[in-house]
Amino acid sequence: MGHVRRSDWTVLELLRWATGYLEGKGVTSPRLEAEVLLGHALDLNRLGLYLHHDRPLCPEELARFKPLLLKRAKGFPLQYILGETEFFGVTIRIRPPVFIPRPETEVLVEAVLERLKGEDSPLIADVGTGSGNVAIALAKNLKGARIFATEISPAALSLAQENAYVSDVSSRIDFLLGDLLSPLRSLKLPGGLDAVVSNPPYIPTGDLPGLPQEVRYEDRRALDGGEEGTCFHRRLAAESREFLRPGGLLAMEVGDGQAEMVAEILEGYGWDKVEVLEDLSGTERVVTARKLEEDGWKGS
Ligand code: GLN
Repeated sequence: MGHVRRSDWTVLELLRWATGYLEGKGVTSPRLEAEVLLGHALDLNRLGLYLHHDRPLCPEELARFKPLLLKRAKGFPLQYILGETEFFGVTIRIRPPVFIPRPETEVLVEAVLERLKGEDSPLIADVGTGSGNVAIALAKNLKGARIFATEISPAALSLAQENAYVSDVSSRIDFLLGDLLSPLRSLKLPGGLDAVVSNPPYIPTGDLPGLPQEVRYEDRRALDGGEEGTCFHRRLAAESREFLRPGGLLAMEVGDGQAEMVAEILEGYGWDKVEVLEDLSGTERVVTARKLEEDGWKGS
């Protein structure tokens, strides 16, 4: 072994310094993020960092860490730097500008799993699949399910396909490029779908400029929900009945303060059993409804 050069930094010293640096740049959890980034650069988990806290770092290790820290300090999202995130216990690869899965969306997945419990081989559409997180979490937890995942952005759709492949569920998910449910029209699904699921864009257009820096790296099409933020909920309320079987489920995530409005929209369109569910922080986050068993709807 040759001589290993050392820098003046130990793991713990660098963590302290990086934490202060990120804090000064307005990062909300600076210690945690410094740990995650340094762990990424050194290929150690957080426990590993602490076990090696007094290890001196070599210049190459410092050189690997520095660009990651600088990117984060500029507001680039942590998940984009790491190239992956966890969603519903599944590792999801993530690249800009594809929408980063959020923990709140796990409530949407739970709501659907609970409501489809009795079904052997449900047919489900995941509208606006983004990185594929919702479709993949559903496929992993409903072994007999067949899923149609639609997406308007080709870059997102190809990442979703890659994620399904990595998660070993690609044989049960069809990825379709297009607007909301329109790619399903040519499939002529006999009997209709059991569920339509969506985490649609729901930020009111006027709120977009005030969002934190991080969010600006994400595709605006994944965020912008029109003037009131409910434009896609309204469209799904109107357009998804055509694709569902009688009694079929519609489940949508909603933005802060939108649940009541979305529930009213659904009632206005003749949906049955409208329910509102909260996320872990107690915010109303998901609205579900059923297509009437005797729906007079004949399609448009
Ligand atoms: N379905 C994806 C998610 O929940 C993408 C959502 C979106 O682009 N609005 O993360």
